[in-house]
Amino acid sequence: MMNESEIEERKQQLCDIGQRIYQKGFAAANEGNLSAKIGEDRVLCTPTLACKGFLKPSDLCTVDMSGQQVAGARKATSEVLLHLNIYRQRPDVTAVVHCHPPHATAFGVAREPIPVGVLPEPDIFLGEVPIAPYETPGNQAFADTILEFVHSTDTIILANHGTVSYGASIEKAYWLTEVLDAYCRILILAKQIGRVEYLALDKAQELLELRRQWGFEDPRNSSAYADRQQDICSHVQFRKTWNESDIRKSGFPEFHTSNRFPDTEALIEQIAERVVEKLRQSDT
Ligand SMILES: [Zn+2]
Repeated sequence: MMNESEIEERKQQLCDIGQRIYQKGFAAANEGNLSAKIGEDRVLCTPTLACKGFLKPSDLCTVDMSGQQVAGARKATSEVLLHLNIYRQRPDVTAVVHCHPPHATAFGVAREPIPVGVLPEPDIFLGEVPIAPYETPGNQAFADTILEFVHSTDTIILANHGTVSYGASIEKAYWLTEVLDAYCRILILAKQIGRVEYLALDKAQELLELRRQWGFEDPRNSSAYADRQQDICSHVQFRKTWNESDIRKSGFPEFHTSNRFPDTEALIEQIAERVVEKLRQSDT
């Protein structure tokens, strides 16, 4: 268990990150929630129905690992069950940030997988980002939607809801969300301009190697994926979960199909025209 001054420091950090989340537009009104571990069986968390931009240290609540509130005048967020699940599964994690950053959340609403092999920073800091299935927020079933992913990533999009990221400090947990939303914003902008160009596979491999050198664990760097290096940008980790959450590629092309089929719609149109032509010929 931390001492009083360490706990006060954590409380202040949660308030500071709350302010950044609100100012970034990652949590409208009272949305989003933050937590930090302060002992084996103690977690600080934000109260329900509070704007994250104006939190005071005295607003924060303390819960035990079963979710029971043990301190704080205000009622703890109901989404704390999600945070506790992450702490239970990942003893290395001491802080969790959950919010609704618009660009990343848009991918969760579109059920569109986040492309890999486009920009250096997200490839190095995030790796492959999964989209967890939708559940009604607040209950245990909602908290359990991340279980399938929590051991192989530190950043998860929650379908039709928001994001959650976690790490060894509040700052680190927050950074992941910021990197993710900036990346998603660039993807959306680039698509509006025209196409999204992928890096060459060997350049993407160099980024994965940098990720390793920076000390980020990534299953794609493990022996399990040794013979699947050509797939590192093809959603090799999480593609098998897509069916369950109705996730599919529709807005962004598969890795390295962008060059071969620069205009998929035109191609489909061409094929359709040829089929209609053939049918007409067989009619006569
Ligand atoms: Zn939420």
